[in-house]
Amino acid sequence: AAADDEAPPRVSKDAPYLNAKLPIEKRVADLLPRMTLEEKVGQMTQAERGAVTDQSDIATYGLGSILSGGGSTPTPNTPEAWAEMINSFQRTALSTRLGIPLIYGVDAVHGHNNLAGATIMPHNIGLGSSREPQLAYEAAKVTAAETRATGIPWDFAPCLCVTRDDRWGRAYESFGEDPGLVESMATVIQGLQGAPSGKDLKRNDKVLASAKHFVGDGGTEYGSSTTGTYTIDQGVTKVTRKELEAVHLSPYQDAVDRGVGTVMPSFSSLDIVGDGKGAVKMHARADMINGVLKDRMGFDGFVISDWEAINQLPGDYASDVRTSVNAGLDMIMVPNAYKDFHQTLLDEAKAGRVSEKRIDDAVSRILTQKFKLGLFENPYADTSGASKIGSPGHRAVAREAAAKSQVLLKNAGGVLPLKKSQKVYVAGSNADDIGDQSGGWTISWQGSSGDITQGTTILEGMRKAAPGSTITYSKEAAAPTSGHDVGVVVVGETPYAEGMGDVGNGHDMVLSAADQAAVDKVCGAMKCAVLIVSGRTQLIGDRLGDIDALVASWLPGTEGDGVVDVLYGKRDFTGQLPVTWPKSEAQLPINVGDAAYDPQFPYGWGLTTLKKAPGGGAATLKGLAVAAAVAERTGSEKAGRAIVTKARLLVQQKIGSGITQTVAKPFAEADRLLLTGRYGQAVAKLTAAYRAA
Ligand code: BGC
Repeated sequence: AAADDEAPPRVSKDAPYLNAKLPIEKRVADLLPRMTLEEKVGQMTQAERGAVTDQSDIATYGLGSILSGGGSTPTPNTPEAWAEMINSFQRTALSTRLGIPLIYGVDAVHGHNNLAGATIMPHNIGLGSSREPQLAYEAAKVTAAETRATGIPWDFAPCLCVTRDDRWGRAYESFGEDPGLVESMATVIQGLQGAPSGKDLKRNDKVLASAKHFVGDGGTEYGSSTTGTYTIDQGVTKVTRKELEAVHLSPYQDAVDRGVGTVMPSFSSLDIVGDGKGAVKMHARADMINGVLKDRMGFDGFVISDWEAINQLPGDYASDVRTSVNAGLDMIMVPNAYKDFHQTLLDEAKAGRVSEKRIDDAVSRILTQKFKLGLFENPYADTSGASKIGSPGHRAVAREAAAKSQVLLKNAGGVLPLKKSQKVYVAGSNADDIGDQSGGWTISWQGSSGDITQGTTILEGMRKAAPGSTITYSKEAAAPTSGHDVGVVVVGETPYAEGMGDVGNGHDMVLSAADQAAVDKVCGAMKCAVLIVSGRTQLIGDRLGDIDALVASWLPGTEGDGVVDVLYGKRDFTGQLPVTWPKSEAQLPINVGDAAYDPQFPYGWGLTTLKKAPGGGAATLKGLAVAAAVAERTGSEKAGRAIVTKARLLVQQKIGSGITQTVAKPFAEADRLLLTGRYGQAVAKLTAAYRAA
């Protein structure tokens, strides 16, 4: 018998699981029984690359995965360095007895955002504004291609959170407050992974996706007075079962149907009214993970925990491990404590508190995705696509996405679009800042202000778009304002990813003092447009009266040119609010469908600068209603959308700035109906808004 300290012989190359021609189920069925319990537990363990200071740990513990948490980048931060780093980890994994490859994961949530020079897309809140699932798909394709080209096959995206309270510090990661809107944007999964069958995952421009954070992450309750605690974006979602199903769960069935490879549970707790369980952390909810996600929805990928999330469960560590794995967690993100975790799960399994069946199920799920990704055949980085990282073609997609995510909320006197002949005065904290316009999850975890990566700021874009014209830039509006035709004040938030939310400015959703002063000065001196670069709505209140044009720019990413395209009228403004814009913090949470609904701007609001805005009145609306009914009956989506859009623009014209409660409610509901193909009802709602205006 071999001595204990002798390395076991490597498996023969003829082993069926190494045969790429065999179906994946057969390969898994061959490999699994060859594995020791230690090796199985290793597959379920994910460490952070910075914590793996001794690389031989990968082999010792048989680690299944390594991740780079936000901003955990190799030095230098180049595509080559990423590929070399991952290849080096992979070599150690492949040196083991069975040669099972690692799966490396990152948060590429708006482009390959950990990599300097990558194309940075607008954050999801902006993509939701575009109302274009196809655009979100194209953006995700770019993300996948840039990510895989550095050797990374797995992306912790998309966030399918349905944001229900703008105070939530991760509202920017949500496509919007309406589950139908979020669901429509699940096209991102296809952009990342390719076909639902998973057959494209082997390609060198596709990555495995992760729908997160299951479930109810966007629904947490917390008061505006909560400050300073790290758990502010990880609260309790208290909902009825009906609301849970209709609002938070519904995008997940779509994700499962689209073949999403992994799902990440939420840090938050779920409190289902009337189920008698109280608030239970999602990582312990077997009823939701095993019951709903796997059994009912038929999810056959694997469940990856969130960062150290099991530590938040009540009880000792053994209980955390046992409870979460028995609840249906297949791989655990234990960035630092991977050794403890490995030993603890091993002990729990040996003691029978976690069944072998459960372990085998988890490992089978993980191996299946590794086989789908082709990692056994091509474990090392294929960097042939690296030359396209940050390429003009990829940036063009981001530019289009940035343009289509701009929402024109107000445009008194037709201040926008700007004319190239105008002398423009530019001010505000976010006019010339790549870091601020990209937001969190950009180069570093929380993101940061300043010149953090390549791209075009809004100011730079304006100078490019109107090269001959006078553009005065004075960040805090100190330069004299006289002699200018129009002001553009770009204000908003500084970056954050997780934690409190508005880290720099407190958590109050108002402009900084410097930005407020810039708005006051510029808008007091000339006609002005204010662009708000932020991850969520900001409270403008009475100041709105002093502003001629107002734009929600969200977090457009590295391509400020896209914002400029709509500013100068190269493209029309077409974005629509993906969330309700509140008048005051006291109104929060405020969402379309609320009984009392009196927002500053309703969900779905978005003016256009179309040269030929649709004219007409009540009679035109009547005609559109007839056409909409036909489109609804025949299921003609293209026609239906066009009709409802025309009606919406017409109604917005009449409403102008007179957005009262009776107007806002039906108006907001129209866009929801549009999403579900009820074009006739959508036009009826718009007609009601028209009458009330
Ligand atoms: C976040 C996740 C992310 C993970 C890994 C967590 O803190 O909640 O969204 O995927 O970190 O970086």
